[in-house]
Amino acid sequence: MTSSCDAIIIGAGPAGLATAAAFRARGLNAPILEKSDAVGAVWRRHYDRLHLHTDRLRSGLPGLPIPKAYGRYPSRAHVVEYLEAYAAKFDLKPVFNANVRSVRRDGRSWRAEAGENSRSAPIVVVATGWADYPHAPAWPGMETFGGPIMHSSRYRNPTPFAGKRVLVVGYGNSGAEIALDLAEAGVNVALSVRSPVNIVPRELFGLPILVFPTAEQWLPPRVADSINAPFVQFAIGSLEKLGLKRSAKGPIQAIKEDGRVPLIDVGTLDAIRDGRIKLRDDIASFTREGVDFKQSPAERFDAIILATGFRADLRPLLPDAKAALSATGAPLVSGRATAEPGLFFCGAIPSALGQFRQIGIEATRIADAAQSLRAA
Ligand SMILES: Cc1cc2nc3c(=O)[nH]c(=O)nc-3n(C[C@H](O)[C@H](O)[C@H](O)COP(=O)(O)OP(=O)(O)OC[C@H]3O[C@@H](n4cnc5c(N)ncnc54)[C@H](O)[C@@H]3O)c2cc1C
Repeated sequence: MTSSCDAIIIGAGPAGLATAAAFRARGLNAPILEKSDAVGAVWRRHYDRLHLHTDRLRSGLPGLPIPKAYGRYPSRAHVVEYLEAYAAKFDLKPVFNANVRSVRRDGRSWRAEAGENSRSAPIVVVATGWADYPHAPAWPGMETFGGPIMHSSRYRNPTPFAGKRVLVVGYGNSGAEIALDLAEAGVNVALSVRSPVNIVPRELFGLPILVFPTAEQWLPPRVADSINAPFVQFAIGSLEKLGLKRSAKGPIQAIKEDGRVPLIDVGTLDAIRDGRIKLRDDIASFTREGVDFKQSPAERFDAIILATGFRADLRPLLPDAKAALSATGAPLVSGRATAEPGLFFCGAIPSALGQFRQIGIEATRIADAAQSLRAA
């Protein structure tokens, strides 16, 4: 069965919900197709200790602030509760268990293929996030390693790693926090760092870190970064003394130009300083019992956690939308008209303002554009 509507929204995470609320406020009929059986599916399966790294006041979606009772940095469970409350407040009723396998051109419309839940509409908003695209590099000898190798998206808590030697690969937000989680549980943990890093404290002068890029958003990124640099450096201390290399671009410039999100430190640097987390360099190859590094001596490990990020490739989902995707299938623009008429992405590109905040901005902009398209 195919029913028609003003727009189709794919995904009932923060981006899909915010977009649906904005469409509804403009009187547009835009069902959400969600492949799981609940809203905020990805937040339900993040690791246990996760709290928002961005503060409550700058992470709420349009029309519903995150409750004060959740504290400045709400927990993962609070985020799930908040997304449920958001859907209830705007009476959003996603079609669950509707896995959109492809979105194809259908004359002047788009047709989302989801079996009996298929829909056609002139506008489609892809709000599928990147959680389904874990990126795992390949190293020589990887297949010979005798222990488990898992992506960070499958990590939940330190319990299965008690008494083991664990290598976390990648010093991004997930890798840093997972290494800290393991260290705090007394697990013998090392962190393999390949590239120069961009690290900012969670707070500066007692204010959440997002206050600064938000206040400076009209400045050129390089200027904003150079204003912040001495304060950031004072707050996080010397990275060079720890053997880390500082990225040549500042945090705001790196996110704007390369989509590289800075690492918001929640205690990992202290654990590195006091030796609870050992730093190692890039992996050269795997052995049956561990890892050969490019510079540090070879070491034995019982388990490896790849905190090596995500790389969305939307080519299979959007076979008729080549003009809107890069050569590797990543959206070229998010939150505004793409090169494919009627096709939008929400929350697809990292932002210096924080992703939740960016999602809210994009959702409102997409709904305004959809309203104009319908009126035209
Ligand atoms: C560990 C972690 C911590 C983060 N912390 C913060 C933070 O502190 N602050 C911040 O601002 N941002 C944070 N982010 C970034 C971002 O805000 C979140 O990833 C956010 O959940 C993105 O929302 P989304 O709706 O775009 O995607 P998701 O939350 O990933 O939701 C996508 C939805 O689409 C569904 N879906 C996917 N494919 C299909 C399909 N083919 N058919 C139907 N449904 C589909 C999924 O089931 C899912 O429900 C964090 C991200 C991660 C990974």
